[in-house]
Amino acid sequence: MAISLTLPTIQNWSCHNCGGCCRQHAIEVTEEERQRILSQGWTANDGTPTGNALFERQGGPPWAKRYRLAHQADGACVFLNEQGLCRIHAKFGEAAKPLACRIYPYAVHPAGKQATVSLRFSCPSVVANRGRSMKQNADEIKQLARAIVPEGHERTPPPAVSARERVDWPDFRRFVDAIDYDLASTTASIGVKLQLILLWLDIVGESRFDKLSGTLLTEFLDIIRQSVHEVGLPMAEGQWKLTGGPPGALARMQFRMLTAQYARKDTAADLASGWRGRWKLFRAATKFARGIGNTPPLQTIFREVSFESLEQSFGIPAESEELWTRYFRVKVQGLHFCGPAYYGVPLVEGFQSLALIFPATMWIARWLAASQGRTQLTADDVSQALTISDHHHGYSPIFGSFGFRKRVRTLAQMDEIPRLIRWYSQ
Ligand code: SF4
Repeated sequence: MAISLTLPTIQNWSCHNCGGCCRQHAIEVTEEERQRILSQGWTANDGTPTGNALFERQGGPPWAKRYRLAHQADGACVFLNEQGLCRIHAKFGEAAKPLACRIYPYAVHPAGKQATVSLRFSCPSVVANRGRSMKQNADEIKQLARAIVPEGHERTPPPAVSARERVDWPDFRRFVDAIDYDLASTTASIGVKLQLILLWLDIVGESRFDKLSGTLLTEFLDIIRQSVHEVGLPMAEGQWKLTGGPPGALARMQFRMLTAQYARKDTAADLASGWRGRWKLFRAATKFARGIGNTPPLQTIFREVSFESLEQSFGIPAESEELWTRYFRVKVQGLHFCGPAYYGVPLVEGFQSLALIFPATMWIARWLAASQGRTQLTADDVSQALTISDHHHGYSPIFGSFGFRKRVRTLAQMDEIPRLIRWYSQ
């Protein structure tokens, strides 16, 4: 099947074998992949368990059991060797690995007649923009896309625009292109760009599109964007007065709860830790809700620091601007923020959720800096924080839950997302 792909050409990537994904992800395997791995004849001499011990039950009824690759005591995949390399890859080649391992860090999503490609920024090489251009990777991506994009993907309808409104693919692309155009601007900081897009998307969320289509829709988007830019941009520049004041106490509480979800690790080892692990998480969630005293370290890289210390200004490293612009553009172009790629959420809500990853990540970056006794952020803090937060975005089921979505909607209704963006940008 020939698939026409839209590639995120602003992004480079090659795997640098850091082994990070083999330590973070629970890899579910199909029955065919399980049988293939069993037939590879792994023995103790290979440094792996044997037979069924290579897998762990992932749930499913007795007649359709689901399995994932087993993990070592430290949470790493059973096939990760001492050099940080995959034993299946080393012995049988790349194609012998489970599909989920081969695809990472790519994500392919339906986009009308085409499919569009995004990347996961939980991979440090993606964050660092290290490796071959997407053009150079195109053949490999096309091959992977053939394995995962189902026949008839062109018939997948576009995500909803808002809770009430749907348009066809060409019109849906007009919204996406307008967001991307604003993100690509070099005249404003990422914080300002996000605030401006959120403002005009508020108008989109309240509008009807049954009579607005094609060039009329483009004109409508141009008009609302222009007016938001004319009024909002001069106010935003320099003094951050776009939406006035710091976030309110209720918003800060909702935000801390949301950020705690992003700061968690949730490796296979964490998932297997049972009630003891859940109780620990519940205690941590309570502390995040109160926001008093010290932060409970959700991962070993975090130290206990006072919640209050993270509310001081930590600055924003100039180098992070490029990373943030690239991150949001890859996610938006790759439709990695709404529809099937993001819990079926409409475009407006999906962008609100995506925008929140900015203050959440900056908060986590502050926590990383404060854990080392620093009060200023470095570009490395921001990069590392993004590998932590993007690990979950669109993948952890909790982010698609009623509670999480309600939290995002509440922050949006209270007009607090722009304030949070501004507060954690300084
Ligand atoms: S996290 Fe990225 S660089 Fe590291 S092994 Fe996985 S794909 Fe390669």
